[in-house]
Amino acid sequence: MDVDSLYQEIILDHYKHPHGAGLRDPFEAESHHVNPTCGDEITLRVHLDGSRVRDVSYDAVGCSISQASASVMFDLVEGKDVEEAFTALESFTELMQGRGQVEPDEDVLEDGIAFAGVAQFPARVKCALLAWMAFKDATSQAVAAQGETSQNQTQEAP
Ligand code: ZN
Repeated sequence: MDVDSLYQEIILDHYKHPHGAGLRDPFEAESHHVNPTCGDEITLRVHLDGSRVRDVSYDAVGCSISQASASVMFDLVEGKDVEEAFTALESFTELMQGRGQVEPDEDVLEDGIAFAGVAQFPARVKCALLAWMAFKDATSQAVAAQGETSQNQTQEAP
């Protein structure tokens, strides 16, 4: 089996059996991101325990790349320190924006390396990054909220 087929298999497997899917309580922040060029959407919640990402839950609809990416992201951030999760985020973003020129680091990205081939297709890069952008957004909100616990967080649906 060549590398491309192996990568496709990993992506397909995450798409069919997404890790951590579904929206759960409790959570400190929620974000909704849309990729209009493909029609992908994700609602994502982050639950922090101090500086640790206790849970990330999400509801993703759209193409196989966007949904598989959310599943891979869950594995890479759940139970990790926010700092460590953001390192994975940066590494994945770098891979996706490298136009196929960046060598993925399996120690950091685990199954995320399967998206190396996607980086060669600019139209699909946004699909792969959607869940990560939602995670970055929600986590930043949750971290900021920790600093102002007395304030009530109310969010209006878009
Ligand atoms: Zn897509």
